Amino acid sequence: MNYIKRFRVDPGSKVDLGKVDAGFKDQHESHEHALPEIEAYNQKLHDLQYLMYAEGKRSLLICLQGRDAAGKDGTINHVLGAMNPQGCPVTGFKVPSKEEAAHDFLWRYHQHTPSRGQVAIFNRSHYEDVLVVRVHKMVPKDVWSQRYEHINNFEKLLYDNGTHILKFYLHIDAEEQLERFKTRIVDPARHWKISEGDYAERPFWDAYTAAFEDALSKCSTKHAPWFIIPSNHKWFRNLAISRIVSETLESLDMKFPEPTIDINEIKKKYHAIVEEEGGEKRKAAW
Ligand code: AMP
Ligand code: MG
Repeated sequence: MNYIKRFRVDPGSKVDLGKVDAGFKDQHESHEHALPEIEAYNQKLHDLQYLMYAEGKRSLLICLQGRDAAGKDGTINHVLGAMNPQGCPVTGFKVPSKEEAAHDFLWRYHQHTPSRGQVAIFNRSHYEDVLVVRVHKMVPKDVWSQRYEHINNFEKLLYDNGTHILKFYLHIDAEEQLERFKTRIVDPARHWKISEGDYAERPFWDAYTAAFEDALSKCSTKHAPWFIIPSNHKWFRNLAISRIVSETLESLDMKFPEPTIDINEIKKKYHAIVEEEGGEKRKAAW
């Protein structure tokens, strides 16, 4: 199964989240069963991110969105932990500061987009401005409803400048969310994660669903697709995202840069290695 095709929101299509099974796990019975595949894709991711860093021509922006406890932090920890942190800046977005709020809504995000060679990860993103902001009526409808177009233009600008964009909506259902809140309550090491705000958002479940459906439908484009990732099973979420990211990076057909020096010269001069019929020969050590 091609995971890019399977989970991508086709541009122009209308999303109905009620029809998406959050518990989907493909052919895998369990985490253990999927483990070899998860590890293989993590290794692939590691190698491809190294190549992107070395090539230094293009970049990748990964946006993670989802309801509270959908697994944004866990995704960063597990999937993107496979990469070298040197080339992978992660930025989390919270309620805008006074300075941020004094600018246009995209200002604070633009500063954290990846430079060439980097894979940048957004934990929440510019989509908050058509999600929480819309649900809680923080700006009037005529303001937020224009933002889908602003977002599409912003993402096109990034794409035209060499930034590939993948956006993941981590899809959990209401029962799974409550289960995860409960797990936090009984585990002292997770108490710090609980905020009453998370519970206070639950009555807005349907309003969020509508806001997510609009964002996913209006802003999935060829150059910046949305993916709906079944996320009730954390291991399946990790597997699906590593697969999609690594398959995307693979499709870029990246190349290591040509060396800036004459490798044969260096071999001869400093390593006393000379090319001979049937391979190399080390003449003498130094
Ligand atoms: P957390 O990700 O749990 O640390 O929470 C961050 C909080 O910041 C969430 O409640 C978000 O809804 C909120 N937030 C993020 N971006 C915005 C935004 N642009 N406007 C208002 N609230 C936001
Ligand atoms: Mg939270």
